[in-house]
Amino acid sequence: MHFTGTVYRNPYWPTWPLLEITQGCTHNRCKFCTMYKDVSFRMSPMEWIEEDLRELVRTDPDATTIQLLSANPLVLSYDKLAPILEMIRRYLPKMEYVYLAGRVTDLKNKTVEELRKLKDLGMREISLGVESGDDWTLDRIHKGYHTFDILEQCGKLEQAGIDYWMTFLNGVAGRSHSKEHAINSAKIFSQCKPMLVGTGGLTLFPGTPLLEEAQRGEFDPLSEKEMLEELKLFVENLTCDCAFFTHHTVAANLTGPNFLSRKDRIVAALDHAIQHGDMAKMAVYRRNKRTL
Ligand code: SF4
Repeated sequence: MHFTGTVYRNPYWPTWPLLEITQGCTHNRCKFCTMYKDVSFRMSPMEWIEEDLRELVRTDPDATTIQLLSANPLVLSYDKLAPILEMIRRYLPKMEYVYLAGRVTDLKNKTVEELRKLKDLGMREISLGVESGDDWTLDRIHKGYHTFDILEQCGKLEQAGIDYWMTFLNGVAGRSHSKEHAINSAKIFSQCKPMLVGTGGLTLFPGTPLLEEAQRGEFDPLSEKEMLEELKLFVENLTCDCAFFTHHTVAANLTGPNFLSRKDRIVAALDHAIQHGDMAKMAVYRRNKRTL
């Protein structure tokens, strides 16, 4: 199999098979991210993809799911994605679910009709690393889009009937804008219809502009307790009827389906963690993280 650099996959999707159809990230500018700094974006040559599919025919001929790599294979145009999906079906005829990640802006080059056709070819679930629904924060962290884009592009996925995830990056606005980040993100996410909302907590990794800004005193990171308070504010304002998960450092299990029916319990668990959680332990856990 062809894999370039460090392989990052969504741990909540089936872990295998994986198929690399792009390398790197087209954007590579988010201020908190180091994942693809050493890899230039490019589409994998079709010969590589076909060689890998031949290998998968030998090892996983009955595969019904596959995860496409790397950061944002969704950016490929319809004319490039459709032949790849057709080839996957040709080699793995039982394929039903093709999972891939992308940026909100990756949807701009596809019409709703094209998205419908890609769904028919197996593109059933997309993970969007949205991070925030607050325009000030999106600009601050160099996400490269605004809330208008989130609403417009997620609306296209809904029209095409493609399931999608939205992620909220807890702590990324810093102390000065924490409330706006939480409340406005919840408002924007709630105007969409994601099948799942996921939250992760900001870690300041070496080599990121955000860490350098923090060291210069230009970014004021939240404490562990403030992270939990921000997460609670986000949850309180979120009204999506979807699944919800968090891989925050909080020990409480907040992950599961039917967010709305569990919302009160999630808020109560966060309250408990805010009052009684071992913040030092959470800080150690965060310091030991190596990647988003
Ligand atoms: S967070 Fe995602 S979009 Fe931003 S640079 Fe990293 S991989 Fe690219």
